[in-house]
Amino acid sequence: MNTDVFAKRHIGIGNKDLGTMLKKVGASSLDQLITETIPADIRLEEPLDLAPAMDEHSFLNHLHSVSQKNKLFKTYIGLGYHDTITPSVIKRNILENPGWYTAYTPYQAEIAQGRLEALLNFQTVITELTGMELANASLLDEATAAAEAMTMLFALRSRAQKKQGVQKFFVSEEVLPQTVSLLKTRAIPLEIELVFGSHTDFDFDPAYFGALLQYPGKYGAIYDYEGFVTKAHEQEIKVAVAADIMSLVLLKSPGEFGADVVVGTTQRFGIPLGYGGPHAAFFATREAYKRNIPGRIIGVTKDLDGKRALRMALQTREQHIKRDKATSNICTAQVLLAVMAGMYAVYHGPGGLKYIANKIHGRTQQLAQSLAAMGVGQQNTQYFDTLNIKVTDSAKLKAIAEAKEINFHYIDGKHVSVSLNETTSDLDLEAIIACFAEAEGVKAENHSETTTVLEASVARTQPFMEMEVFNRYHSETEMMRYIKKLERKDLALNHSMISLGSCTMKLNAATEMLPLSWPQWGGVHPFVPVDQAAGYQEVLASLEHQLNVITGFAGTSLQPNSGAQGEYAGLMCIRAYHESRGEGHRNICIIPASAHGTNPASAVMAGMKVVVTKTDEKGNIDLNDLAEKAEKHKENLSALMVTYPSTHGVYESSIKQITQLIHDNGGQVYMDGANMNAQVGLTNPANIGADVCHLNLHKTFAIPHGGGGPGVGPICVAPQLVPFLPGNPVIPTGGDQAITAISAAPWGSALACLISYAYISLLGEKGLTDSTRAAILNANYMKERLVDGGFDVLYTGEQGRAAHEMIVDCRPFKTNGIEVTDIAKRLMDYGFHAPTVSFPVAGTLMIEPTESEGLAELDRFCDALLAIKNEIESCHAEEPNNVLKNAPHTLEMLTADSWELPYSREKAAYPLAYVTENKFWPSVRRVDEAFGDRNLICSCAPIEDFIEA
Ligand SMILES: *Cc1c(COP(=O)(O)O)cnc(C)c1O
Repeated sequence: MNTDVFAKRHIGIGNKDLGTMLKKVGASSLDQLITETIPADIRLEEPLDLAPAMDEHSFLNHLHSVSQKNKLFKTYIGLGYHDTITPSVIKRNILENPGWYTAYTPYQAEIAQGRLEALLNFQTVITELTGMELANASLLDEATAAAEAMTMLFALRSRAQKKQGVQKFFVSEEVLPQTVSLLKTRAIPLEIELVFGSHTDFDFDPAYFGALLQYPGKYGAIYDYEGFVTKAHEQEIKVAVAADIMSLVLLKSPGEFGADVVVGTTQRFGIPLGYGGPHAAFFATREAYKRNIPGRIIGVTKDLDGKRALRMALQTREQHIKRDKATSNICTAQVLLAVMAGMYAVYHGPGGLKYIANKIHGRTQQLAQSLAAMGVGQQNTQYFDTLNIKVTDSAKLKAIAEAKEINFHYIDGKHVSVSLNETTSDLDLEAIIACFAEAEGVKAENHSETTTVLEASVARTQPFMEMEVFNRYHSETEMMRYIKKLERKDLALNHSMISLGSCTMKLNAATEMLPLSWPQWGGVHPFVPVDQAAGYQEVLASLEHQLNVITGFAGTSLQPNSGAQGEYAGLMCIRAYHESRGEGHRNICIIPASAHGTNPASAVMAGMKVVVTKTDEKGNIDLNDLAEKAEKHKENLSALMVTYPSTHGVYESSIKQITQLIHDNGGQVYMDGANMNAQVGLTNPANIGADVCHLNLHKTFAIPHGGGGPGVGPICVAPQLVPFLPGNPVIPTGGDQAITAISAAPWGSALACLISYAYISLLGEKGLTDSTRAAILNANYMKERLVDGGFDVLYTGEQGRAAHEMIVDCRPFKTNGIEVTDIAKRLMDYGFHAPTVSFPVAGTLMIEPTESEGLAELDRFCDALLAIKNEIESCHAEEPNNVLKNAPHTLEMLTADSWELPYSREKAAYPLAYVTENKFWPSVRRVDEAFGDRNLICSCAPIEDFIEA
């Protein structure tokens, strides 16, 4: 047996299990099962044309040698990205720790208190530094967050403003170029009119609903915006501020000068540059706007015993997102990165952050004074870390600097900006000064005195981060234990399978993850000249090629930072395509009723009108209804959005007819690729007749879920859409008629792309295809076991087969007084995370085992569900004091001196033998959702401060 083959490590089923499983599903071979599952007319005829699989050791050597092609210059480009130091204790115990990176989004609060606390810390840091009342956790990048601010303010227009058609949004010329590009993308479909200019001569015309300022400005200048905000408010113009998080340590907070929204990135709180991401952005605003905040908010509530507990507050997002009423489509965000940034603040505390910010600011003063002494002027009267320097010839400076392996930002022929960061040393400062001395032909000066240039009107006076959590864990021992304490509260893939339908929680292999820690990948700024990022360019081009081959399409953009952003990007490409053909009026988007909530939300953001098409009782798109709607709207049909296999877990056999029907009526077909794990190597989106799809690299292609991100949602497109793939204003990328940016960085979260590149390269054609086959076998095996045990599985294919996931009906248990949530909570007592609850059908569980689970684990999970079914049978609607309603059970309950429940402690906590061996204890009892929403608390100040006893 060749144990070098990675597929053997990735796929959970062993050879000896295969026979048992096939017997259970009643198929003579895996081929037979696949034939019965996937309609013949959409099967691929040829194997995927990919390079042969590499073994893990060779792959790491390969990726190491490619990494050497990235040149790690000292980079002072700034523009929203700064080199930083990831504290090793955070890197080792979070970034490199599957206990953190393999967790799911914290919907099941009782087994997610650890990451919920880490995110609450993040929100607290943000509210304290921005001076706002509420913050979310988190958004995709600064540019996206700024666009979300614009659209939130647009939605918040008063009735009078809406009536008068107030739709102008002022964008300061100090705003970062990538943010401007993204605002353009988002403004067009909503018919928001962007007006650019200087905040100093803005006319405060009531035709504006909002304004965006940058603090400090893109080349470092700091302005006192208080007067601007006051005057804007007098005209009912709301003000968003994009702020640099590190500068806020020293600067007056935007909240203090009256801002309505504050956004930004937390990259420089210890997150590697990674050639553009992943990084967590923040979004902070006033309490009054809490119901309009995009993304997730973590809130404080209590559990059944009245004990403090955390949960995701207010809106249940994701699958239940507000469909076509939504103003945002944010689903997957950047949770792991938000956790890390929050921990950076915990580790350093307010004192440490002040030290770091002062160090950066001090060196910047030294630089300014040294340059001044050399006769080299700079234009920022007040600055934090960035100087806007006037030079004789920036091209000459560039040549000199690059020879010394230094990057500045060259604004134009005469101006250069230099942004210092946490890593900049005195030696670095000398090297920077030497570049300017040589370019200007003057003698280098090195001034070491520091006198702050910050006037009282912009300097911070308010204290921040005084809570205990930020003032307690500053030794490495304490920090390590704090991280571990939180980790232990959370159930992740390193404990048991997480069978979340539609989310594909498969193995995130160590070899796929290791390169993320290498400085040759982490240390590259997204706006360096592309020849300095040759290693990245090679990997990203290879990954694009691999995804083209897998989807059957002609071009790929890696820019979108999540599946939902991919949907939006794809629809915007379709929009641009219709426009290029003089058919810009096409604006109808047909979406099946069963679609994921992000689909209609993205369509609305792309300026489309959503028309919902029915699904029949078998869960398939109702062809007659679709034909009728396509025909009715044929003059204005823009697109169909379809998930394949469907969200019901079925390979609809009429899919080719469906796509043909849309094409015949002038539309394009968007395929939601969340279920790509059921296609790879066996069929593909091009084959079924789609024109564009997104892929969730964080589902199918092994990027870990991270507790709710990072995500990477590339779009792959047919030839006619390639010209429109999204661009970037700083580094040229995308098609030759590129739409404006979808994400801030040219290749989105490039660092995370290494994982998917590893996944595909390690599996190769055969490993990928075998994975799909194994995923289908696993699902069908579970289906047989559950059906045998009396569960109803909704929707199957024509030959009774499930795809890679299945929907288990829990509605019949209502007669016993049991809801699907009770089952989800009871599964925790058995050591399992619940499958997807109530999507796409209310009252059901959607189970997706993935190929990475082996027979033993599948059996344990089935045993648990079947045991729960037995328990349900002895529950009565009139008697809610039962083992399901009381679930989950905590160690505290079990070890309390008294036990008054009508069942035994053993039954509560050790219901099956395997549980005894590897018990996972939920850290709180069932959380009170309603109480949390009524008493919204979103920062980590002690709960007593908020709730009266
Ligand atoms: C996960 C998912 C999405 C959204 O993807 P994100 O990366 O979370 O934005 C869209 N559609 C379906 C069917 C999904 O499962």
